Amino acid sequence: MKIAVTSGKGGTGKTTIATMLAKAAENAQYLDCDAEEPNGKFFLKPEIEKTIPYTELVPKINEDRCIFCEKCADACAYKALVVMGEPLKKVMFFDELCHSCGACAYVCPVEGALVEVEQEVGLFNVGKAGNIDFVEGVLNIGEASATRLIATMKKRFMDDKKTVILDSPPGTSCSVVETIDGVDFVVLVSEPTPFGLSDLKLTVELVKNMGLPFGIVINKAEKENSLIDDYARKENIEILYRLEFSRQIAEGYSKGILPFDKYAGDFKKVLKRIEELI
Ligand code: SF4
Ligand code: SF4
Repeated sequence: MKIAVTSGKGGTGKTTIATMLAKAAENAQYLDCDAEEPNGKFFLKPEIEKTIPYTELVPKINEDRCIFCEKCADACAYKALVVMGEPLKKVMFFDELCHSCGACAYVCPVEGALVEVEQEVGLFNVGKAGNIDFVEGVLNIGEASATRLIATMKKRFMDDKKTVILDSPPGTSCSVVETIDGVDFVVLVSEPTPFGLSDLKLTVELVKNMGLPFGIVINKAEKENSLIDDYARKENIEILYRLEFSRQIAEGYSKGILPFDKYAGDFKKVLKRIEELI
């Protein structure tokens, strides 16, 4: 069973819920796909057994061979190449825009003028957090997109025999789409605020468009606040759990301590319900 945990925006408690689900699950694997800000490790405290560099192919121009025909720049949909012919005779490459699509290398007509080379853009940390298999993807600061790193992480490490909890990036970007693509269920974490609801609606639209089953967990729920409940009722979306606002959780979170044991029973029930819904 593969469960992605995501939220419309950062700071809603997505990692709190993802780690609580991983702790409550039997035979769990936790994949931290929030590669620009992976923080599941602060709560699960894994022993990292290996660190594996993640590389992508980028173009390298040999200006001695280049004929400055501009075919590579024309082929680049991301404007990562600028060719300056006579008298400058220069090709500029902006690696932060490059998506490693390979189009420039494909169209270049001169052998050896443009070759693809590996560039390290991130890494994977692999280890164990008690019984939980732990993997996190970490994108180097300044890199444009974590999408391919996430795709590689899922392909390389995801274990179908486990209950896999994918801690997604927040929002509705390509990285989120990549994370939740192909999972069995998506947990949407939201806070009962107008901003929280607005972002939740965007995420609901995304998962509906992708045809994925999903449910909501309300974080920092308050008895007198029915903002998310009213929306969910109207849209016929199941609220899987309400994690009441708790000073203990807020204080613990800032120290990297979450009360996993206290909530293990509740999150086992959430997992059971997700299984039924799948
Ligand atoms: S396609 Fe090749 S030869 Fe043409 S400008 Fe680009 S690198 Fe130079
Ligand atoms: S690999 Fe793709 S994105 Fe990168 S420079 Fe070449 S054409 Fe542009």
